[in-house]
Parts: sequence; structure tokens; C-alpha cells
Amino acid sequence: MNKQSDRVLVVTSRLKEILGDRLQTSRSVREHHSHTTTLLPSQLPDMVAFPQSTQEISQIVKVCDDNSVPVIPFGAGSSLEGHVNAPQGGVSIDMTNMSAVLEVAPEDLLAVVQPGITRKRLNEELRATGLQFPIDPGADASVGGMVSTRASGTNAVRYGTMADNILELECVLADGQIIRTGSRAKKSAAGYDLTKLIAGSEGTLCVITEVTLKLRGIPEHVVAGYAQFATLDQACTTVIEAIQCGIDVGRIELLDPAQIKASNAYSKLDLAVVPTLFYEFSGGEAKTNEEYELFAAIAEGNGVSALTSAKDAEDRAKLWAARHDAYWAALAQHPGQKGIVSDACVPISKLASCIEQTQEDLSELGLDGYVLGHVGDGNFHVVLCVDPDNQAQCEAAEDLLKRISKRAVEMGGTCTGEHGIGQGKQGSLENEAGPALAVMQTIKKALDPKGIMNPGKIFA
Ligand SMILES: Cc1cc2nc3c(=O)[nH]c(=O)nc-3n(C[C@H](O)[C@H](O)[C@H](O)COP(=O)(O)OP(=O)(O)OC[C@H]3O[C@@H](n4cnc5c(N)ncnc54)[C@H](O)[C@@H]3O)c2cc1C
Repeated sequence: MNKQSDRVLVVTSRLKEILGDRLQTSRSVREHHSHTTTLLPSQLPDMVAFPQSTQEISQIVKVCDDNSVPVIPFGAGSSLEGHVNAPQGGVSIDMTNMSAVLEVAPEDLLAVVQPGITRKRLNEELRATGLQFPIDPGADASVGGMVSTRASGTNAVRYGTMADNILELECVLADGQIIRTGSRAKKSAAGYDLTKLIAGSEGTLCVITEVTLKLRGIPEHVVAGYAQFATLDQACTTVIEAIQCGIDVGRIELLDPAQIKASNAYSKLDLAVVPTLFYEFSGGEAKTNEEYELFAAIAEGNGVSALTSAKDAEDRAKLWAARHDAYWAALAQHPGQKGIVSDACVPISKLASCIEQTQEDLSELGLDGYVLGHVGDGNFHVVLCVDPDNQAQCEAAEDLLKRISKRAVEMGGTCTGEHGIGQGKQGSLENEAGPALAVMQTIKKALDPKGIMNPGKIFA
């Protein structure tokens, strides 16, 4: 009974008893539950479970632990570093059937949700309350996946990351035990902060089965638009000065000329092909208008060549849809190719230089790259479009990703601001964490001694 295939057979039959038809083993379902987004090859789980309750998840994990078979939690599958791959096979736990809003408490500005709910559906359900959950990683990700990758996105400059927006978690540990972390209180000094430890743990410590989220008011007034500059440096300096002046930036995103060209074609924009900021200020009308005036003055001082302010909701939606579709716009320039996305974050004062050096790397390596970023946080991405059959190009892309990660760390930053480590960034984590990596491994071993929780992620 020691062989992995025998153990998988035992788990399959036990889980069939528990889940019936909600355990699937067809190749198409397993393929859908492996990584397909980037160049990283897909590695299929042996089966996919669709539980309906925390108790069922506890039973599934216990069966897997007893038989040393891996467990891979699965949200919406939009992660970018091979997070949901199953290099050792095992059971993918799909959270689709656990996507209810369990409670909304407007007076405490919180909602309790199951992990499978996507951020768009959550906001639809919240609409009547005048409240929102603002964390927005572009893709329509699940709340469980967003907690597990410590996701952020365009709104993080104002609201922080997922780690800043969760109060409580319910989790199933590797031995099937169910625990709760955190509380509804705004702050706590009660022991280790397990909630923050689990945020960003990529399914390697536990399965998250319930999340208490902070909610925010929907701003009454919004001004959004774009500002264009001759150089990246002028654009980045404008952002730094705006933040230094205390402007409460809602969102501020940088798109380089290559990305603007791609977005013009894909999202039917008509922008000059130069470094561009998409910005948004929101809140009370007087405050927002004042912030816009100050921002305009700062942008003028930095030589802005075009500046718009769209108060119309449709125009704003078009702009932000273009930003959210930036990845697909880049890919559309290279039919048949695959996208790879880098994700570095540096102190904001280093951002322009980091991006400029990256652009020099791109031309040295002969790669097509599209730069965009959450510039208010010093976080930027390069979308590389690569022909998977062109080995030299794939190697050049790998080289570029390593250079970006290394440079970010040398500049005092990190190899990933929001996408996480998964399979793709393990070498960069080793370089960044140094001896702290062994501390992370000790925590992993203590909570998951048999190594069943999403093995092969974060650590090799
Ligand atoms: C076009 C595009 C744009 C993107 N832009 C951004 C961006 O701006 N900012 C950003 O942060 N990310 C971005 N991402 C990445 C992605 O959307 C995030 O990583 C997201 O948080 C993943 O959520 P998911 O539900 O898809 O998780 P999945 O991909 O399903 O899983 C991700 C990880 O979380 C684990 N997991 C999932 N559910 C649970 C659970 N209930 N319990 C424990 N572990 C769990 C999985 O095992 C896996 O390790 C983008 C992706 C795409 C495709």
C-alpha cells in the first residue's frame, strides 16, 4: 500500500463515498484545474473534489493526510506562477460550491463570506448596502485565492493588500482540524498573527473555508482620467510628488508606450503612444476636485503633454476596462504566443530607474515586453509574449525575469509585490529571504509534517 498510485486509489474510493458525483476524475476537469495561463507546463491533479461545507473539506483533507496524498486548493485558477499545478498529483479542492455571502454587518463594516465567491459577485451582492470590497486584482479571482496569494491590484495604493483587509479566517489544517484566526475587532494583540501568516501562504499551510472581510463605503464622487508624459521619469516623479503632497490617490497606474499601443488596438482607445498614467481620485466632491487641481499642477510642473478628467461613469469604465485588459491586449499583439508576467515591487523612488533598466534588458535580449504597474505602490509588471516552441526566446525570457527579481531586491524591494511565489519564483525567494527561508520551512513543517498541502509551491 506504499505506492502513490495505490494510495490515490484508496483516496478516490473514500472520497467517492463522501462526495458521490462531486468527485470528478475526467481528464478535461483535471486539465481545467491545472495551470494553463503562462509558459509553465500544466501538471494535472488525480481528481477534483467539489465540497459543499467546511466539514466536508475537513474530511477530504483528513483522508489525504492519512494516505499522504497532496491537497491543492483551487479558487478561480487565475494565479500566474503555477500555483494550482499538481506536480505530485493529488486532490484539487475546487471552492465553487462554497461561494455564499454568510453575513453582512454594515455597522461593523464587515462581511463574512465563503472562499469561492469571486470579487465581482461579492460586490454585486453588496451593491444595495452602499458598501464595497475594494481589492481588485484585475482577474475575477475568488476571495480564498486572493487571501492565499495576498493579492492586491489597482486599489491597493489606497486600501492596502488582502492582508490589510481580512479580520478573521476559518481554516482546515493538514490533519483535518478546523481552526479560527483573528476576531471582528479592529485591532488585536492576542498572540501571533496567524491571519497574516495564512494570507500569502498559497494553500501550503491550510485550506481557507471562511473569510471575514473589511468593507468600505462606495465613494460619492469620482474623477478619473489619464496624464501623458515624454518620459517614464516625468510620470513617476508626478506620482511621487502627488503622494508626498498628501493627495489621497484612489488608483494610479502606469502604462509604457508599448502597452499603450497594444491597448489602443485592443480596447479601441486613441492615446498618444507615450508613457501614460491612468489615475482616479474619489470621495467627497469638493475634496476630489481639489485633489484633481493639485494633481494637474504637479503634472504640469513635470511637463505633462496631455491631461484629461472624465467625470462621466462610462468614460471612466472604458479607461479602467482597458487597464484591466492590458494583459490580453499585449497577448493579442502576438497571436499563438503565451504570456509571462513579471511582478516586482521597489521603493517608489527607485521605480523609474528599475523600469528603465528593465527596458534596456528587453532590447538587449531582443524580447517584446509591455510594462504596466501599480505605480503608487512601486509595483510593476512586464508582460512578455513568447513563442513556446522558440527555446532561445523562452530562455531569454527566463533570464529577464531573474534579472528583474534580482534588481528589485538589490534596490530594497521584493521579487513579487502581489502574484506570489508558486513554482515560478522559488529561486528568487531564496535570494530574497536568505536565512529567513529556513524559518518559513520550519513553520511549514510544523503545520504540515507530511507535506501534503500544495507541495512544490513556495519551496522547491
Ligand atoms: C489578467 C490577469 C491580471 C492579474 N492582475 C493581478 C493584479 O493586478 N494583482 C494581483 O494581485 N493579482 C493579479 N493576477 C493574479 C491572480 O488574479 C491572483 O493571484 C488571484 O489572487 C488568484 O486568485 P484565484 O481565485 O484565481 O486563485 P487560484 O489561482 O485558484 O489559486 C491561487 C493560490 O491560492 C490557493 N488557494 C485558492 N483558494 C484557496 C483556499 N480556499 N484556501 C487555501 N488556498 C487557496 C491555491 O492553492 C493557489 O496556491 C492577475 C491574473 C490575471 C490572469
